[in-house]
Amino acid sequence: MSTDAGDANEDRRKYEFRKVIEELDDYEGSGTQLVTIYIPDDKQISDVVAHVTQEHSEASNIKSKQTRTNVQDALTSIKDRLRYYDTFPPDNGIVIFSGAVNSGGGQTDMVTRVLDSPPEPIQSFRYHCDSNFLTQPLEDMLSDKGLFGLIVLDRREANVGWLRGKRVEPVKSASSLVPGKQRKGGQSAQRFARLRLEAIDNFYQEVAGMANDLFVPERHEMGGILVGGPSPTKDEFLDGDYLHHELGDLVVGKFDVSYTDESGLYDLVDAAQEVLADQEVMKDKSQMEEFFEKLHTGEQATYGFGPTRKNLIMGSVDRLLLSEDLRSDVVVYECPNGHEEYEVVDRRHGDPGHDCTECGEEAEKTDREDVIEHLMEIAEQRGTETKFISTDFEKGEQLYDAFGGVAGILRYSTGV
Ligand SMILES: [Zn+2]
Repeated sequence: MSTDAGDANEDRRKYEFRKVIEELDDYEGSGTQLVTIYIPDDKQISDVVAHVTQEHSEASNIKSKQTRTNVQDALTSIKDRLRYYDTFPPDNGIVIFSGAVNSGGGQTDMVTRVLDSPPEPIQSFRYHCDSNFLTQPLEDMLSDKGLFGLIVLDRREANVGWLRGKRVEPVKSASSLVPGKQRKGGQSAQRFARLRLEAIDNFYQEVAGMANDLFVPERHEMGGILVGGPSPTKDEFLDGDYLHHELGDLVVGKFDVSYTDESGLYDLVDAAQEVLADQEVMKDKSQMEEFFEKLHTGEQATYGFGPTRKNLIMGSVDRLLLSEDLRSDVVVYECPNGHEEYEVVDRRHGDPGHDCTECGEEAEKTDREDVIEHLMEIAEQRGTETKFISTDFEKGEQLYDAFGGVAGILRYSTGV
């Protein structure tokens, strides 16, 4: 079980990863010269060094002198970074990005970024050289789809597994001894039908047992269970209450899927995309609904950078709500009379300049910081939980558009 503090740290780590990914996505190389390496935690560092050395010598065949030099420089830089690690990478692995990126006016800058211990394990070693960095696998890890149980079945075969984020993990399978519809000669039709029903019932029980063993211990961590298969098998299985009663409530959808082998688990996830997208924003939706309720009925809500920050410092914020799409900096100004004030600006824009609203004097910039990091730091000091809210639903969009991407649900009314 993860604690709230653990979740907050995880959210913060995810935010930091997302920020680096966005920065990396903006880079471009003039040739095929940006190198990305994904290293799983069970891969020996010495193997990776050998691979990079090999690529370095093969790069000598690159025709363009500039690209050749750039690729070799990137590989040398990666080798330098690998020296900081022991035999194996840290938990979940490492991703290294390195290359000469365009910095405008025909100039290039050498960029090297190392991300260790990503939010989910890296599945396989990947070497990628292109005019862009490869960030998609990391982006997939940051999706909040969470954990879902998967069941596919017909009367002959069943598979159960997990959907973790965007990754399907087959776990167990079973096949049945249910006889076909054709009875053998000499058997009475009635007896045959009864035996067949018994065999089906036994098989459903076996499948349910498999699912119960796997899912019951995780039921509080799961976003739901998806069930797939042909009709009427999956309906029979669900209507027959074979699953543990606490799992029955977790079934969020049943889907027509033709295959019930491992590939059926993937088909099931494809078929369930809409339900999964809904589930992804469901927690965010309930946070925003609570916020709007408090906003309309009383004073236990705050929004906008200034008021939310004040409330945070007072310790009155129960939950800080930040839009996932917020990309702003806060610029801190101080006037000659010692008044400290803040301006929120788009991350890509320069400093706007500021006249003190109290005395009208021209103020001087003393600091500039990412809004999210600025607010999260205060929240952590005050024991306030931070929730990131997606913009993939109406009220999430409103948080971004109408409230500057920052709001708070208060513990008590403060009048700020
Ligand atoms: Zn002033």
